[in-house]
Amino acid sequence: MSKRIYLDHSSTTYILDEVYDEMIKYLKTFFGNPSSFHSFGREVRKTVEESRERVADVISAEPREIYFTGGGTEADNTAIKGIAYANQSKGNHIITSKIEHHAVLHTCEYLEKKGFRITYLPVDKYGTIDIDALRDTITDKTILISIMHVNNEVGTIQPIEEIGKIAREHNIYFHTDAIQSFGKLPIDVNKMNIDLLSASSHKIYGPKGSGALYIRKGVRIEPLIHGGHHEMNKRAGTENVPGIIGFGKASEIAKKDMENNAYKGIGELRDYLQKGITEKIADVFVNGHPEKRIPVILNVCFKYIEGESIILKLDGKGIAASSGSACTSGDLEPSHVLFAMGVDTALAQGTVRFSLGKKNTKEEMDEVLSVLPGLIENLREMSPFSAEFEFPREAGPRVKHKH
Ligand SMILES: *Cc1c(COP(=O)(O)O)cnc(C)c1O
Repeated sequence: MSKRIYLDHSSTTYILDEVYDEMIKYLKTFFGNPSSFHSFGREVRKTVEESRERVADVISAEPREIYFTGGGTEADNTAIKGIAYANQSKGNHIITSKIEHHAVLHTCEYLEKKGFRITYLPVDKYGTIDIDALRDTITDKTILISIMHVNNEVGTIQPIEEIGKIAREHNIYFHTDAIQSFGKLPIDVNKMNIDLLSASSHKIYGPKGSGALYIRKGVRIEPLIHGGHHEMNKRAGTENVPGIIGFGKASEIAKKDMENNAYKGIGELRDYLQKGITEKIADVFVNGHPEKRIPVILNVCFKYIEGESIILKLDGKGIAASSGSACTSGDLEPSHVLFAMGVDTALAQGTVRFSLGKKNTKEEMDEVLSVLPGLIENLREMSPFSAEFEFPREAGPRVKHKH
């Protein structure tokens, strides 16, 4: 088998060499506890604080507004539960969307059991949230709006600045899960009126289990984890120093990449792949917004077959992609995102997400384009779902978030 091709960067990325080189020193040589006053501690503290500056720089925040967490999921949990519990006296209503990552959706479902009321906003066929519906659902009990910046399955970019403006006008906190956009799209937390923002290191060529929550200064949250005075009393526990250093370095590189327009080239590759797939294969549909879409994601439905079987066949050829979202694959429920977008349930079964990264090449896209049409044809020949096959309505996903 020739070299493997990785097209699943939205699930996770490899660590860049520069990131690794920086981290490794803090696993061995600089092992001190950043809370210690002696030189072992101080030399580590200094680099942790430099990392905080590097992360803050990506979103035009102040370093003291950045709180390191154990990843993106923890940042989402801290933001949503933290605001909910700190503002119970003001109200119990939270607005989010039907297409959020499960880190947000399941946190909101948990809060529903604790007496909070959650509105899950609908989206249009491109996966863009309905701004008018957002305005209409705001009440004097609304304490938080949590809407993701870029959807991890289809790549659609939400009108974050507009949402921030509405939240500010109504004096409601605004949190955004920016895990797919952080370091890839320009973000200015002040211009966009963002009060809380989640970021994750392993989606931008940093280590796993490392992330950050931006909390605008003056915004109070109830901490999730209690203990020592770490992270300005908002997240107790001795810092994951190598993880933080790696995230800092990855953030610095991501910012330079954005300034050098690195994602333009990746976007061109994505478009090349999209054009090839839609030209070479019949009965294919591209999901997500045609323009307002992050340049790294291509989500396509292949009619009459299952995404899982396409992934397996691709894997057999050394090509890694994912069916819908990595977190939901394994259960055969169609994606909640595609369902909210109104994609036909039968069609949504045959979904593949290709997500590109910095090292992908045109030759790799050509390899995918030479392998995929035959593979799809074979699967369709074997498919029990003939062209006439109609999924029974009950086969649709359980409607968990209907309001
Ligand atoms: C990956 C991802 C998360 C979870 O982040 P982890 O660091 O893996 O916990 C949350 N939201 C979105 C949109 C993601 O893509």
